[in-house]
Amino acid sequence: MDKSNIPMKKLNSSLKMESEIKKYLLVQNGEIPVDYLIELRQYAWEFRKYSCPDALIAINGGSTWLYTGQKYDESKVTLIKGGWAHDHCEICYATISEGEATSEYEVEGYHSEFEWICKNCFTDFIQPMDLNSILKNHRIIEKSL
Ligand SMILES: [Zn+2]
Repeated sequence: MDKSNIPMKKLNSSLKMESEIKKYLLVQNGEIPVDYLIELRQYAWEFRKYSCPDALIAINGGSTWLYTGQKYDESKVTLIKGGWAHDHCEICYATISEGEATSEYEVEGYHSEFEWICKNCFTDFIQPMDLNSILKNHRIIEKSL
């Protein structure tokens, strides 16, 4: 089809339809997309103590990757046992790490395959059956993408 036949006005209005409004729930340290919260609520969570997982660290510095059994090039990266120092709560970004609990970080939380959620956020956002009551009790902002 020859695109020059499409009137410009029609093109613009179809573009507008594609841009969507995304809703974010405001939490203590920021905001989380409501879509993502709904996704997190579907994961299987297990309460456990944090232990630092293995990490791949680039020999030339700079990058670190969580080691999950992926293949890697030993000439470029080194596998460090327990090299992944900490994770963050997916909702409030609190630090969860290994060792003794301090005011800086927590040492246990809820874990799914790769994500962590702190105890408070689990109680507030994951455990309640009724999502609408959570949404009602928090400020929601909208952003256009
Ligand atoms: Zn949290």
